[in-house]
Amino acid sequence: MPPAPEPPHDPRSAAGSGPEITYGECRQCGTLIAGLDGRYSCGVCGWVNPHSEGHRPLPRAEDDRHRIAGRDTNRLG
Ligand SMILES: [Zn+2]
Repeated sequence: MPPAPEPPHDPRSAAGSGPEITYGECRQCGTLIAGLDGRYSCGVCGWVNPHSEGHRPLPRAEDDRHRIAGRDTNRLG
């Protein structure tokens, strides 16, 4: 497995930057399957859902930085 392009120093950014494991049912055979960010691949029947059904585009460092800046900025000033 190749290392991530950007070293996750901040534990918060590390937790927010990677794909999240999600769970759902296979729409073909109904098996409970795990996926990443809403993208599933059934190991029983081979069903996969379209990538466009993912919860978000593949994460990038820039996107993650934007998200953190928008959501987690302290509004003290
Ligand atoms: Zn299936």
